Amino acid sequence: MVKNYSLAEIKEELNREIEELEEKDPSYLNCRHCPYKGKCCIDNDIDIREDEWNEIKSLLDSSLEIKQKVRENFINDRKCYFRTDTCCLINDIRPTNCLYTPYQVIQNIYDFKITYSKRSPECDFETVEEDSFELDDKEYLKKIGEHYYLFLNHWFLSFENQSENCYKETGFERLREYFESAC
Ligand code: SF4
Ligand code: SF4
Repeated sequence: MVKNYSLAEIKEELNREIEELEEKDPSYLNCRHCPYKGKCCIDNDIDIREDEWNEIKSLLDSSLEIKQKVRENFINDRKCYFRTDTCCLINDIRPTNCLYTPYQVIQNIYDFKITYSKRSPECDFETVEEDSFELDDKEYLKKIGEHYYLFLNHWFLSFENQSENCYKETGFERLREYFESAC
């Protein structure tokens, strides 16, 4: 049965988990004041929940400046569509996908292999697939190599999917529909 967490509750829980991660691996504190101008956002087409999209849509409707910048990115296929060279245009309401992106590890439910983005000290990322590790379902933080990561299977099952608005579409799909309907 769906517990029906609100978006605020889901984000609060995710932020709590991230704080725990930062305690275990202080190198992640960098993400609070990213020295690399959001390098991990480049080329990302983020997934956006229905409730997250409602917030983003309201922002686009209320700010012509932000809407124009996002539209320009969208037309030129510059991802993430919500990014400029220096900032995130929707930082205060950025989706959960953005919150967990730098830290995520996910386990394929069919072959149990894990996939994660291995991070260099300068935040260059490499997607790595490895054989699975032994993992208790409730274990959330996992050390792989030098860093700890968030185990997303647990996150999705326990929180993100436990709400009515968990249906996601990519930024591309959301914006295509939004800009098409605006014409
Ligand atoms: S992981 Fe992303 S947000 Fe964090 S420091 Fe690196 S580039 Fe910045
Ligand atoms: S929405 Fe903002 S935080 Fe998320 S990927 Fe785009 S630029 Fe980065």
